[in-house]
Amino acid sequence: MPMNGHDPRVLIIEDEQQMRRFLRTSLLAHGYLPIEASTGAQGVAYASSSNVEIVLLDMGLPDLEGPEVVRQLREWTDAPVIVLSARNGEKDKISAFDAGANDYLTKPFSVAELLARMRAARRNVVPQARDKAASIFSAGHLKIDVDAGVVFVNDQELHLTPIEYKLLLVLAENVGRVMTHQQLLKGVWGTRYTSRTQYLHVYMGHLRAKIDNDPNRPKLLVTEPGVGYRLRATEPS
Ligand code: CA
Repeated sequence: MPMNGHDPRVLIIEDEQQMRRFLRTSLLAHGYLPIEASTGAQGVAYASSSNVEIVLLDMGLPDLEGPEVVRQLREWTDAPVIVLSARNGEKDKISAFDAGANDYLTKPFSVAELLARMRAARRNVVPQARDKAASIFSAGHLKIDVDAGVVFVNDQELHLTPIEYKLLLVLAENVGRVMTHQQLLKGVWGTRYTSRTQYLHVYMGHLRAKIDNDPNRPKLLVTEPGVGYRLRATEPS
């Protein structure tokens, strides 16, 4: 891929030199422009001063806890944050997503996997920004007219209960991002209901049955086991 002024800038926040070198080499070979930070504070400073399109964030940094870095990054940039972590525990994932991370990759991962996640993260940003202004949200065969409060699947109007609609809206407002159980419960039912995970699973099942053509192999409403749910911006082919 030719190098030019339009190569997307990727901020790498990672303290291990070897890992930084691996990421830098892989990104340069695939048309991205890496910017490197070795501490959380340095990463936040770069995010605030340069126009970054994607952030790759190591969760084990010497100065700041990973979720704290995500929170500070979110004050400066809406760029997707992909967390890179050696740990694969649900708790670690949940705290990263709760802080505002978009995706989570467990080390070790392949270059192909990383590039695929980066492409998905960037795809998800574009429709969100465009559709906010138009108040029409669309993802694959799903369309929501937010002003009118009407949902279409394959251009057929869909009947949703008020709770189902609210749940779908919260997911659509955060399209592409994993929403944790807590975030969804808070967004739909309010802060007093954040422990009622079973409500969520029931309503999610209803919503999926109405929206995904094959609820057993959902293409749009994806489960992140033990963590939460994600509405995809596009259907995988
Ligand atoms: Ca580290």
